[in-house]
Amino acid sequence: MAVFPIRVFGDPVLRTVADPVTEFDDALARLIADLLETMYDAPGVGLAAPQIGVSKRLLVYDIGEGPGHVINPEVVETSGKWEFDEGCLSVPERFWPIERPDFVRVEGVDLAGEPITVTGDELLGRMLQHEVDHLNGKLLIEQLDEQLKKEALRELREEALGIAQRD
Ligand code: ZN
Repeated sequence: MAVFPIRVFGDPVLRTVADPVTEFDDALARLIADLLETMYDAPGVGLAAPQIGVSKRLLVYDIGEGPGHVINPEVVETSGKWEFDEGCLSVPERFWPIERPDFVRVEGVDLAGEPITVTGDELLGRMLQHEVDHLNGKLLIEQLDEQLKKEALRELREEALGIAQRD
C-alpha cells in the first residue's frame, strides 16, 4: 500500500470521464488499498481513482463506519434535497454551500465482481454523488450557480497559474 499525491484542480485527469473497470485482479485490489490509504492520510471521507491519476470508475469511502468501495458505480435513484458546505481534496481548503439530493442509491460491483448496492442520505449520500461526479470528469464547482462558478473558476485558475495575490 502507498499514499499517492492527490491531483488538484487544473490536472486534466480530473476533467476526464473515467473508463469502466474490466479486470478484477490483484492490481485492482492494490489500487483499492492505495486509494483507502491515501484517503485516510489526507484525511477525507471519500476518494475517486482519478484523484490519484487513475482514470478508472472506482471510489472508496469511510464516513466513520468503516471502509467501503464501489466499482463501476451508477447513481440509480435520488430523492429529497440537502444543502451542505461541500469540499473536495482536489480543490483544497475551499467549501461552498451546495444543494444536492439528500438520499441516493448507488449500484455497482465489489472487488469480487459481485453486484452491490449502497444507499445513504446526508453525508453518505453527499459523498457518493460527489465521487461519482469525479468519475464523470466533474468537480463540485459544476454544482455552483453561474456567478459563484465564474468567481471560483477565476480564483482557482489564478492559483493554478501561481499568479494569485498573496498577503
Ligand atoms: Zn472531490
